[in-house]
Amino acid sequence: MIDPAVRLAELRAAGLERRTRRVDGASGPWVRIDGREVLLLCANDYLGLAGDERVREAAAGAALRWGAGAGASRLVSGTLPIHEELEARLAAWERRERAVLFGSGYLANVGVISALAERGDVVFSDALNHASIVDGCRLSRAEVFVYRHADVEHLAWGLARAEGRGALVVTDSVFSMDGDVAPLAEIVALARRWGARTVVDEAHGTGCLGPGGRGAVAAAGLEEQVDVLVGTLGKALGAYGAYAACGGDLAALLVNSARPFIFSTAPPPAAAGAALAALAILEQEPGRPARLQANAALLRDALSAHGLDTGGSSTQILPLVVGAAEDAVAAAEGALGEGVFAQAIRPPTVPAGTSRLRVAVSSEHTPADLRAAADVLARAVRSPLPAAA
Ligand SMILES: *Cc1c(COP(=O)(O)O)cnc(C)c1O
Repeated sequence: MIDPAVRLAELRAAGLERRTRRVDGASGPWVRIDGREVLLLCANDYLGLAGDERVREAAAGAALRWGAGAGASRLVSGTLPIHEELEARLAAWERRERAVLFGSGYLANVGVISALAERGDVVFSDALNHASIVDGCRLSRAEVFVYRHADVEHLAWGLARAEGRGALVVTDSVFSMDGDVAPLAEIVALARRWGARTVVDEAHGTGCLGPGGRGAVAAAGLEEQVDVLVGTLGKALGAYGAYAACGGDLAALLVNSARPFIFSTAPPPAAAGAALAALAILEQEPGRPARLQANAALLRDALSAHGLDTGGSSTQILPLVVGAAEDAVAAAEGALGEGVFAQAIRPPTVPAGTSRLRVAVSSEHTPADLRAAADVLARAVRSPLPAAA
């Protein structure tokens, strides 16, 4: 049995204790922390929509019209017109037959994977996939083959060995802590060759990449070939919740057997209203994803001019790998002291020895903000302050 005091002391000794940090106000390019305005470089609110007046108004309006909570699971009495409207809108946007809403991306991944795979099957999962995918694999009771990150040869080897068994390949599209994009075309081709199903998690692709911000799968022209796309409403779309976009039979299967869909309360109307408004803004202001990627390129170049390496990132997520957990925390404290909030990311979120500042850009940052931030980040990563107690 875990003794909380002992476990916490162990985490503290290893530099792995986590605490929440309070931000006083709505998400935006700048936020208030401890009474000071700081540049926010670690939110997933990539398009600035969480704080957008229109999105907030839509959330409030949906709550006034439909209630603060949905009152039950979707299959009990929780399905409201606004849920159906949002699902129809998402399906049309993703150009898929249907979209099924989930309470969050975590719940969507757990639900989709465990609904599709069962004992005796093999789930092929990238070594850097998100924790919710790992947990979905566990819940499915399928065998899990973890292939080396983005290594299609390793995946091919595993698929060949599993010939004749039910196979599902699952990958993040944009890796959440590294900002690189999965080799989607090769993965899809391998899955087809070996008769495997595919699930792609677009948590950091939705709203950020591809035509109309429809994600990395759309950018690669592979919409027709991926069985299930998981998109989130809580990141670039500024709301909360997630969806699985897929064919009609798969959607009906999710409604019948995805445990988080069945056994968890439907998303609150305010979240659905906010997501609908965010989708409308994305359509009216199609320049936002391009501005996001231009900002990311600007910061990547500014960091590299300082001699800093952002690894394989080609997106709005820029990892600055520091190494030891304590050093990453010290670097984050140093940057925050100079007015730049970039969170330290440590194990188990990333592999041991690769603790980092995960820098995330927004379309609403100005080029001047980002250039100044690069100077601060370079100083912080080079000479981290001693970690605050
Ligand atoms: C954040 C994230 C999720 C979970 O989404 P939530 O809506 O925050 O629960 C799933 N997958 C990836 C890759 C993520 O980064």
